[in-house]
Amino acid sequence: MLLAAPQVKLPTASSIDRAKIELERRLGPSKVLTDEEACAPYASDDSDAAGRRPAAVVIAASAADVAVALAVAEACDVPLTPRAGGTGRTGGAVPVAGGIVLATHALARIKDIDRANLIAVVEPGVITGHLHAAVEAEGLFYAPDPNSLESCCIGGNLAENAGGPRAFKYGVTRDWVLGLEAALMGGRVVRTGKRTVKGVTGYDVTALLVGSEGTLAVFTEATLRLVPKPAAVATALALFTDVRAAASAVAAIVAGGVVPRCLEMLDASTLEAVRQAGVSVDERAGAMLLIEVDGDAADATLMRAGEIVSATSGCVDVVLAQSGAERDRLWAARRMLSKATRRMARHKLSEDIVVPRTRIADLLARTDEIGDETGVRHLAYGHAGDGNLHVNFLWDDDAERPNVERAIGLLMRATIALGGTLSGEHGIGISKAPYLALEQSPDLIALQRDIKRAFDPKDLLNPGKIFPSMGHAAC
Ligand SMILES: Cc1cc2nc3c(=O)[nH]c(=O)nc-3n(C[C@H](O)[C@H](O)[C@H](O)COP(=O)(O)OP(=O)(O)OC[C@H]3O[C@@H](n4cnc5c(N)ncnc54)[C@H](O)[C@@H]3O)c2cc1C
Repeated sequence: MLLAAPQVKLPTASSIDRAKIELERRLGPSKVLTDEEACAPYASDDSDAAGRRPAAVVIAASAADVAVALAVAEACDVPLTPRAGGTGRTGGAVPVAGGIVLATHALARIKDIDRANLIAVVEPGVITGHLHAAVEAEGLFYAPDPNSLESCCIGGNLAENAGGPRAFKYGVTRDWVLGLEAALMGGRVVRTGKRTVKGVTGYDVTALLVGSEGTLAVFTEATLRLVPKPAAVATALALFTDVRAAASAVAAIVAGGVVPRCLEMLDASTLEAVRQAGVSVDERAGAMLLIEVDGDAADATLMRAGEIVSATSGCVDVVLAQSGAERDRLWAARRMLSKATRRMARHKLSEDIVVPRTRIADLLARTDEIGDETGVRHLAYGHAGDGNLHVNFLWDDDAERPNVERAIGLLMRATIALGGTLSGEHGIGISKAPYLALEQSPDLIALQRDIKRAFDPKDLLNPGKIFPSMGHAAC
């Protein structure tokens, strides 16, 4: 079951032919896939968004290759979609107009880890988990940790401004980017930002490009901030009768002055999926919090968090992880949630809305009402410390799809009504574009379209993303 593709201008057959010839002439045939079977895997990502099979896929091996692909795309009037690990959840890497896919996964060098200046210089195809391992081997730390870190790449993290469980204490990808090298439509390459900790020269183009979802420029290098690796980490699991009790504990931890690095919540249906996946969870539990702290006083801080949580009405049990291996097992269970819940139905859509953390319980209560109103099964888990919840809708029969669309629309409206935002980390892409106008004014959307035009006047770089293609469908 796929989302309908947005309305975009398709390239002509003659412009496609010219682009293929030019790409092969300038890059050599080994870097350009044109065979239908070879190109087919590049038509989709980890969302339900429908794409068109690209006519050509460029496997870039250098920044110069990226620049050539962008020059050819503009000269031949062919749309181009950048791609990294293909794990995106909103269709960002899906080529809705076909054309060229520019794959950056082979640009995978960690060029420098500079201990004295606490920076890493990396190419966009570096797998996020590989960067973690490399800097941690040097006693350093790069915090952004999307749960897809074994397969997503820094380029995709930059484009989506990815977050993860550790965002509660350490922020999201943008907070860790000092500077970028990026190729613009037409092939010019610019360097933005700095290699220094401080620096305020000119507009903050680095911040603009991070989170631009592959619509403004293609990253070829990033200079990332590092910090010393925290001395110790301590993790606990707290069980509650229901999500309202767990949400109260989240608020109590924060009000108590404890700053965990992660504060993850699982609701009753998610716990059921975990049980079905073979992990034993206390039958009294209708919600769970995973609490992790770090730093020199990690054990003492966790004890304090444990005391606060135990005093919360509805707390059933608090279990401290006794070893690194036990901690790893807890996180393995958290990271497999996406797959475990996927097994519960033929189709699953995962939203990543955010509300003020004090409104989490209200949002989940409204989600239950939406489930009742539409008859669509749902569950929720996610980064409760940030108020960022993955509300998942599940269905088996294709005929249920209109109800699912209605449920998503109602969820988006409820999120905005509670003072929240449509996306905490997955981006808008194709999936959420119809709802953008619920959150942003026509003037703000028009301003962003103007920015897009300044970078890409012909609308060839990743067209059909972020902005609603047919007016403001959500209004
Ligand atoms: C199991 C699972 C768990 C997940 N958990 C999280 C999570 O905890 N937090 C989170 O934030 N996300 C999560 N995600 C979503 C996804 O992993 C992130 O959005 C990730 O940042 C995408 O990276 P990618 O390399 O796969 O990018 P892709 O999917 O290939 O592309 C994503 C976007 O980046 C653009 N892009 C790719 N490379 C470049 C480049 N070099 N220059 C410019 N633009 C580029 C693409 O055009 C597209 O718009 C999860 C996904 C899955 C499947």
